[in-house]
Amino acid sequence: MRPRIAIFSLTSCEGCSLAILELEDQLLSILDAVEIVNFREGMTERSWDIDIGFVDGAVSTPEDKREVEHFRECCTKLVAIGACACLGGLNTLKNYQDEDEYRAYVYGDCAKYFPTTPAQPISAVVNVDHELPGCPMVKEEFLKFVTFALAGRTFKLPEDPVCVECKKKGILCLYEKGIICLGPITRGGCNAICPSYGAKCEGCRGIVAEDALKAAGVNLREQYDVDLADVLADVRMFGAYQEKTLP
Ligand code: SF4
Ligand code: SF4
Ligand code: SF4
Repeated sequence: MRPRIAIFSLTSCEGCSLAILELEDQLLSILDAVEIVNFREGMTERSWDIDIGFVDGAVSTPEDKREVEHFRECCTKLVAIGACACLGGLNTLKNYQDEDEYRAYVYGDCAKYFPTTPAQPISAVVNVDHELPGCPMVKEEFLKFVTFALAGRTFKLPEDPVCVECKKKGILCLYEKGIICLGPITRGGCNAICPSYGAKCEGCRGIVAEDALKAAGVNLREQYDVDLADVLADVRMFGAYQEKTLP
């Protein structure tokens, strides 16, 4: 029997679930191998008997919490896709602002009708089986994950930092220009897309494991006389929630 797949969205731009629709040719071969049973962006039918549920978006409202708890009950495996679901993502920027102020700014006099909570990754609320990070998630990683799942293999995220892919591409390091880039402390797998276009890495794939983080601290100090604490202080745009749990 083909695995029954669902794709859900919580608070987010839903760009990660839309990225699945953008797979085009590859999507057709996936559709041969799985049965999509619940996907608001792509179909009207709904089933709650689900083998693998993919979720984008952060838990950012009381309704998000109720929904993700329901997804967890209905899915044998739950997979967080994208920075919002894995880290809290851009939504966590509100965690550093005055709640009354930002709600009044967004909703005006209707703010009382839109309850909110500090934004959190899905894993802060329910058990998550796998995470496919990034803003948006890397489509090739999603394909690889599905291929591995169909073959009964366990997919593992890359453990090297973004710098490894960046250096392989021969890009001039932004630290040479005095710019703090989060590449040394961020999980690779995006092919260093931001530095490839001259932009600093903002850490959308989350922080590397503690060993790699310590090694990054030594390298940054030796090569550029930069303190790891100054780099970690810049982890705000996508990893604001995770920032609080760093060693
Ligand atoms: S991770 Fe980025 S692309 Fe994906 S849902 Fe969040 S904001 Fe949108
Ligand atoms: S610090 Fe940034 S620019 Fe420098 S190698 Fe790492 S990812 Fe590339
Ligand atoms: S370079 Fe950094 S911010 Fe850009 S996609 Fe990769 S991990 Fe995300």
